[in-house]
Amino acid sequence: MKPNVYTLVIGAGMVGSCCALYLQQAGHDVTLIDPHPPGSQTSSGNAATFATYACIPVNHPKLLKSLPALMSGSERPLSVSPGYALNMLPWLFTFLRHCRREHVDHTIRALGALLRHAEAASLPLFQAAGATDLIRRNGTLYLYSDTPSLAAAQNDMDRRRDQGVPISELKTDDLQALEPALAPVFAGGILYHDGFHLHDPQKAVSQLANRFAEDGGEIVCDRVQSIEPAGLDQVRVGMPGNSRVFNNAVIAAGAWSTRIEGSVMDRLPLDTERGYHVMFPDDAPLLTRPVGLADAGLYLSPLGGGLRAAGTVELAGLDAKPNPRRLDYIENAARRALPALSRRGDTWLGFRPTLPDSLPVIGRSSKHPSVIYAFGHHHIGLTLGGITGKLVQQIIDREDPIVDPTPYAAQRFLS
Ligand SMILES: Cc1cc2nc3c(=O)[nH]c(=O)nc-3n(C[C@H](O)[C@H](O)[C@H](O)COP(=O)(O)OP(=O)(O)OC[C@H]3O[C@@H](n4cnc5c(N)ncnc54)[C@H](O)[C@@H]3O)c2cc1C
Repeated sequence: MKPNVYTLVIGAGMVGSCCALYLQQAGHDVTLIDPHPPGSQTSSGNAATFATYACIPVNHPKLLKSLPALMSGSERPLSVSPGYALNMLPWLFTFLRHCRREHVDHTIRALGALLRHAEAASLPLFQAAGATDLIRRNGTLYLYSDTPSLAAAQNDMDRRRDQGVPISELKTDDLQALEPALAPVFAGGILYHDGFHLHDPQKAVSQLANRFAEDGGEIVCDRVQSIEPAGLDQVRVGMPGNSRVFNNAVIAAGAWSTRIEGSVMDRLPLDTERGYHVMFPDDAPLLTRPVGLADAGLYLSPLGGGLRAAGTVELAGLDAKPNPRRLDYIENAARRALPALSRRGDTWLGFRPTLPDSLPVIGRSSKHPSVIYAFGHHHIGLTLGGITGKLVQQIIDREDPIVDPTPYAAQRFLS
């Protein structure tokens, strides 16, 4: 036990809830703060895949070549708001610089190191929270629409195999046998055997937070505005109308993390890759596992609330309104793959927290040792929440870390 070590976790998404549970289990007196219900923001509307195979970053040598095609016309998986692109030029420049082979090799190794521990770090939390009944184990299918795109993916498959990811390559007939509702329009695919998915990701996170509260954790419904030093080993955390002092403050506020003010905060290049989903409430039975449409940039996931078509990337910041054309794009791509889809239901816009090198920031602030960053998990934060929570606890408690934390340190952006 660590009596009287008061630790605040800011943000009750997948990442913050896992941090809170691991810190509580290690004996900290933990407060979890969020203005919204646990798991109700980006951790709710995602594609729900626990994607232990996802070690290939979006910034990739091939991206530079395929960028014009990805962005041309209205039927495209990537959309950039011209006005916002000007705001984020430094981010874009760093992002594109990280498409160079040597950077990508580093990112694959660093993501692979986290992903190898992702399941072992998350399952005990799901078990403690009574959430294992939300896990569906039937692998994940990834489809390619033509032979050139399948051939272009071969190198990525080899890289995944190098990272220990078990993969089966499938021909068109195999796809139909596995998922008969798919249109026979795909040139081939990949089955990732190890992946699983969550029947309801928001419910899973909310059960983690319930476990935390039942075990004595404090949940506060409020927004952190600022963090300032309060001596050498404490910080004062400001909310509207009051402030409190903590020994540690973990910043796990997803895409909003760098909006928190204060002299303890480093200037980190966090931005957001917006993504959408469209629900088809009657159609979950059409698929038995999540199906990724590689060329369309989205997943079709059979979930508790129906079939969810989720994905695409829009660079337009945190404040722009949802773009209905992105939803139409997703609906059209989903219907091409699954012609039996019936009525369209609810839609959703979410904010992936993304740093331009496609690695999260997990580690101490350079400005104050009591501030620990845990954000920037981009496309795979549901998968990486558990291992991030474990690593954050070990960093705070100065234990030997399960993974070398050097690649995730904030210092990589500070020079
Ligand atoms: C379309 C789409 C599909 C995706 N599919 C997958 C997938 O299949 N698998 C996967 O692993 N990942 C997926 N992701 C990514 C994943 O959803 C995110 O990486 C993950 O949810 C991030 O979790 P988080 O806890 O960091 O952020 P969030 O879930 O956004 O939580 C952050 C919390 O911080 C709170 N907060 C913000 N500011 C403050 C403040 N000042 N004070 C207090 N609290 C604050 C917010 O209210 C929020 O609750 C997908 C994302 C999208 C958009």
